[in-house]
Amino acid sequence: MRKTLYLKFVLAYIIFGVFGFIVVATFVSSMTTEQLRREKADALYKEATLIANTYASDLYNTVTTLDVVQSQLGALSTYLSATIWIINPSGRMILDSSQKLDVENEVVVEGFDPTVTAGSYYTIGNFFHSFDEEMLSVFAPITSEFKVRGYVVIHTSMNDIYATSNGLLNISYITLCILFLLSLIILIFFTEMVYIPLRKITEATEQYAAGNMHYEFSVESEDEMGYLAASLSYMASEMARFEDNQKKFVANVSHDFRSPLTSIRGYLEAMLDGTIPPEAYDKYLNIVLNETTRLTKLTNSLLTLNNLNTKGMLLNKTDFDINKVIRNTAATCEGTCRQKNIAIELILTGESMYVNADMEKIQQVLYNLIDNAIKFSHHNSVIKIETTEKGNKIFISVKDNGIGIPKDDLKLIWDRFYKSDSSRGKDKKGTGLGLSITREIIHSHGEHINVISTEGVGSEFIFSLAKSAMEDED
Ligand code: ADP
Repeated sequence: MRKTLYLKFVLAYIIFGVFGFIVVATFVSSMTTEQLRREKADALYKEATLIANTYASDLYNTVTTLDVVQSQLGALSTYLSATIWIINPSGRMILDSSQKLDVENEVVVEGFDPTVTAGSYYTIGNFFHSFDEEMLSVFAPITSEFKVRGYVVIHTSMNDIYATSNGLLNISYITLCILFLLSLIILIFFTEMVYIPLRKITEATEQYAAGNMHYEFSVESEDEMGYLAASLSYMASEMARFEDNQKKFVANVSHDFRSPLTSIRGYLEAMLDGTIPPEAYDKYLNIVLNETTRLTKLTNSLLTLNNLNTKGMLLNKTDFDINKVIRNTAATCEGTCRQKNIAIELILTGESMYVNADMEKIQQVLYNLIDNAIKFSHHNSVIKIETTEKGNKIFISVKDNGIGIPKDDLKLIWDRFYKSDSSRGKDKKGTGLGLSITREIIHSHGEHINVISTEGVGSEFIFSLAKSAMEDED
C-alpha cells in the first residue's frame, strides 16, 4: 500500500506531463496554425481587394499601363512575401508579380474555377497545379460596370505559416516544460507533507497491531496529518493504559479472591485434622463466615461495576426527597456507629428537598460514603452530612474527622481496588471498589463528585444532584 500510493502519485505526474505534451502537439498546434492561416488570409484579402479596386480596375479601364502596374505590384509582393496575379475569369494570366509575361506565350491556369473557394475567399493547395508546394491563395474579384472582369489572386507559401506556427509552438513546449518542472514542487510537498507522515503512521499502526503499544513516533506538523498522528499515539497510549489497568484489575480480583479462600481453607483443614479443637469451632466458623460475606460482597461489587460500565446504563430516575433518603441511610448505619461511639449530624436544608435521580443508586452512594466515613473515623467523633442548594443543583456532603487521605493518594482512591496502605491494615473487609462504584453512579447521572481531605484531619466527599423540576413548580 505504501509504495503504490507514491507510485500512483508519480504516475499521475508523468501522465500529466505526457498529456500536456500530446495536447500541445495536437490541439494547440492545429489551433495555432488555423489562427495564423486565418489572420494571413484576412490580411491578404484586404490587400487583394485594395489591388482589385485600384491598380487592377485602372488596368482594365486602361487608365494605366501593364508595366506600371507590374512594377507597383512587384514592390508590393516583395513586401508581402507573396506572389500577386491578375487573371481573367477564364484563367488567362494578365499579370504575374514574380515575372514579366511573354505576350507571345500566354499563360492560362488550366481548369481555373473561381467558385473553388466554396463561399470563402481563400483556398489552400497547389492552385490548379500551378505550384509544387502548398499555397494559401486569396481571391478578390475585379468588377467594373457590375461585371466581374477578372481576379486578383495573392499566393503565399503555407510553409511560412507552418514555420511561424512551429516557432509559437516551441514557446508552448518551453512553457509546458517549465510548468512540469514547477509542478515537481507539488510532488516534493506531497512527499514531505503526506507520504512521509503517512509512512510513519502506517508503521506505527503496524507496531500497535502487533501489540507494541509503547511504540513512539512523531509527526511534527500542525495540519490534519499531525492531528491524525497525535490522535493515533494518544489512542495507543490509552489502549496501553487500558491494558495495564485490565492486567492490574485481574491481578487484584485474583488476589482479593485468593486471600479469603486461603484463610477459609486453612481454618477448615485445621478443624478437620484436629489442630482446632471442637470447642473453638464457634470462633473460627465465625471467621469463615466473615470471609464468605466478604467474598459475596466482592462478587456483588464486581457485578455492580460491570453493569454500571455498560454504556447507556439504565437509570430509573424519579423525583424523591433526598433528605428522607439521607435520614434512612444514616439510620441503617446506627449500629456500626454505636460500636465506635460515632455521632452522625444531619444539617439538611429544608424539611424536604426533591431531586431527580435513581433513588436506589443514590442510596448506595450515600451508603458507601457513610460506611467509609465511619470506617476511617476515630472513636468518639462526629460525621456531618449536609445538603445545600445552589441554582438548580443540590450538593450533598459527607464529612468526617478521621484519618484523612494522603495527598498522593487523592487521585487514586477512585481507581478500582485501590486501598491506601494505611487502610489495608485497618480495613480488612474493604474491597477498594466502593468509590469506583460511587463515581460511576454519579457520572452516569451527568453529575460530579469531589473530595477534600487532609491527612490526619479528615475528609469531605461532595457530590451534586439535579434539583427536581417538580419542586420549582411548587
Ligand atoms: P473500600 O470499599 O475498601 O473502602 P473504597 O473504594 O470505598 O474502598 O475506598 C478506597 C480507599 O479510599 C480506601 O481504602 C481508603 O484508603 C480511602 N478512603 C475512602 N474514604 C475515605 C475516608 N472517608 N477517609 C479516609 N480514607 C478514605
